Formats: sequence, C-alpha cells, structure tokens
Amino acid sequence: MAGRLRGVKGTRDLLPEEAGVWAAVEAVARRVFTDYGYGEIRTPLLEDTELFVRGVGETTDIVGKEMYTFDDKKGRSLTLRPESTAPVVRSFIQQGLESRPLPQRLFYIGPHFRYERPQKGRYRQFHQIGAELIGDPGPWGDAELLAMLVRFLGELGYEELVVLLNTVGDDASRAAYRETLRAFLEPVRDRLGEDSRRRLETNPLRILDSKSPAERELLSDAPRLVDSLSPASREHFDGLRGALERLGLAYRLEPRLVRGLDYYSHGVFEIVSEALGAQDAIVGGGRYDGLMRQLGGPDLPATGFAIGEDRLIEALPEASPCRARPAAPVAVLAAGAVAPLAALELAELLRGAGVAATADLGGRSVRAALKRADRSGTRFVVLLGDDELAAGQATLRDLAAGDQTTLGRDQLAARIKEAS
Ligand code: AMP
Repeated sequence: MAGRLRGVKGTRDLLPEEAGVWAAVEAVARRVFTDYGYGEIRTPLLEDTELFVRGVGETTDIVGKEMYTFDDKKGRSLTLRPESTAPVVRSFIQQGLESRPLPQRLFYIGPHFRYERPQKGRYRQFHQIGAELIGDPGPWGDAELLAMLVRFLGELGYEELVVLLNTVGDDASRAAYRETLRAFLEPVRDRLGEDSRRRLETNPLRILDSKSPAERELLSDAPRLVDSLSPASREHFDGLRGALERLGLAYRLEPRLVRGLDYYSHGVFEIVSEALGAQDAIVGGGRYDGLMRQLGGPDLPATGFAIGEDRLIEALPEASPCRARPAAPVAVLAAGAVAPLAALELAELLRGAGVAATADLGGRSVRAALKRADRSGTRFVVLLGDDELAAGQATLRDLAAGDQTTLGRDQLAARIKEAS
C-alpha cells in the first residue's frame, strides 16, 4: 500500500478557523497601510538566484545556507524568495517606478521560504507583511513608517509597544566602526565561536547580534557604533529621535541592535510588546540606502520593515478584534420530496437578499441535519417541507430564542436581518 502523503517539513496547513484570523490581520494591514498612502505590490515567489546573492549578500545566513535554490529545466538558477526587499527593489527598477512621483510607498503580504531548522515559530514556508518607502532620504519618512507600524500593531490589539532603535550610520561611519570593533575583538578572538571568528573578517558588525551568552558577555564592554558616527549620520539619527518624540512613539536605544542583512544604514529598529513577556521582536527593519544602486538601479534612498506574520499571529492578544469569528450562515434544510433542490433555491434567494446561508445538500435525515446546523453555531435554521413549499412559505427557527414561526418566503430575509 502506498504511504500516506504528508505536507513538506517546515510547512503547515491553515484551516478555516485559523485562516480567518490571518485574513482579518491582513485586512487590517491593507486598511492601515492604505491610509498612509501605501499601495500593494505583488512580486513573484520565484526570482533569479543572483538577485538575492547581490541584494541580500553572500555573507549572510540567508544566502549562505537557507535558500531554496534549484535549476529549472533550462539550467537557470532560481530561488524561492527568502525575503521581499530585494524583489521589490528589482521590480521598482524593472518597472521604471522612479519616473512616478517620489517617494513611492509600497507594501507586500505573502509567503517566503528559508531552509531553516523548523522549531516553534520558525518555518520553512513563513509569511511576511512588509513595507518599503523608496526615494525618501529620511529621517522623517522613517518616523512616518514607524508610526504606521505602531498604529497597525495597536489596531491588532498589541499593547505596550516599544520601538528598539539604533543607527548603523552611513558607509563612512560603519567603515570606521568596523575597524574599531575589529581592534577590540582581535585580542579575544580565541574566545569567539567559529561563526563570529569568520565574521571578524567578513562582517564584524554581525557579531553584535550574537545570541551566545559568552559572546554577549564579551561584547558588553565593546565600543558603541553611535560613538563612531559621522556628523551627518548623527544629525540623521537625532532627527529621527526628535520626530518619534514629537509623534509620541515610545522608543528605547539599543546600541547593539544591528539587523542581520548587510545593506542597512542609519536608523534600524525592532518592535517588541512589553506585554508579551518574551522579548522576541515582532518586526524588524531599517534604512537601506545603498541597495537600489547595488542592484543596478538609480541611486535612491529607501527604508522599510518586515513583520514575521506567523509570529505576529501566534502572539496575537486574546482580545484582538481579528479573533472575532463571523456569525455562522443561516442553515436551510428541506424535508421530503422537495429536498434538496428547494433548499438550494431558497438559500440562493437569501444570499441574493444579503443573508449568508448554507443549503443542506441532502443524504441524511432532517434530525441529523438539524443537529449539524446546531453544532455549526448558527442562530437560524430555515425548514422547508412539501406543505410549506406549496404555500410559498418556510419555517424559521431561532435556535437562540428557542422558538419558530412560519412565514412567507419573501419575508424571510427581512425577518432574519431584523432579528440578528
Ligand atoms: P528578517 O527578514 O530575517 O529580518 O525577518 C523578519 C521577520 O520575519 C522576523 O522578525 C521573523 O519574525 C520572521 N521570520 C524570518 N524567518 C522566519 C522563519 N523561518 N519562520 C518564521 N518567521 C520568520
């Protein structure tokens, strides 16, 4: 006998109850982002591998070990998108969006793929909700983006939101700091793990977000990037902080916050909900001024964020409006010779009048159908028999009130709407 088929490791099925919550969260995202003038962009799940090699960076874990890369039938190397900033920038360049009024405000929602070890909250197909503000040098656009994020999370029911903020400065500031940090870590390189020793050559900034307790201890006295800022970078950062204060957004400086990807500059951030306890970030983002040029496009500054939607929903507060279940549709049952066609027809009539309805498709007793309707959580059942049909009537049973009335078919919808 053939083995039972299972979904691919690290992927999951979202059943209707759960998918309903996802759709509600995405609807809030679409509404809030649209209110800020953002338009949705849908880029393909598949891109040329080279886009991520150039756009995310060869030294990152994503490109180094986490991509779903394969050759297609013509031998072209393709990759399932592990993130969307590079694809959005690729699309911006390819579609010539720089000829539209700048800045451009774009958001995306959808699945992404990384070959990671599946564990709680980490999947191989995961989902991100993200936004990119392209063509604004900041810092005001960064502040607006953060205000949008905090509003979105607040509308989902998240409380006590705090922006963790740092700056990684401009290229010159980072180059200066890289040397300072290297000089600090070189004498203690033996105490660094293998990954960090490698990063000491390739990208020492990444060592700062090490999760190893021993390395974190070592780094507690490390020189801080904010102390290596060029005057222009300092002014940018002060502007961002001033704008957040003006907009009443709570933030905390996190000098060791560096985003995992190579292309960030200036303001970088994560947002945590202090009400959640665990300090795991719900969202990360920052400015990536050099990326557009790096991908062969115009030299336009940009900033953005990506929210991990899986984690966003796992941590969704109990009281979130997105958890509200829609009312179950009215159940239409027909008995006797008129079943199930009369039920089908009447359910159509109800839907046409704006009342959600399901028709019983027959094949079981009215008693069983009633029981099932009751279990579905519906409040109203409409019953049709030969006599009712002949008289142009139907019986409306209100399961909540425990009573029923017989009335004309054409009065049904109005009566149900009145009572709901
Ligand atoms: P990144 O693009 O790595 O900055 O990630 C942005 C957000 O995406 C993170 O805060 C995570 O919540 C989420 N994320 C990244 N990788 C995964 C994954 N494998 N499974 C679930 N969520 C992920």
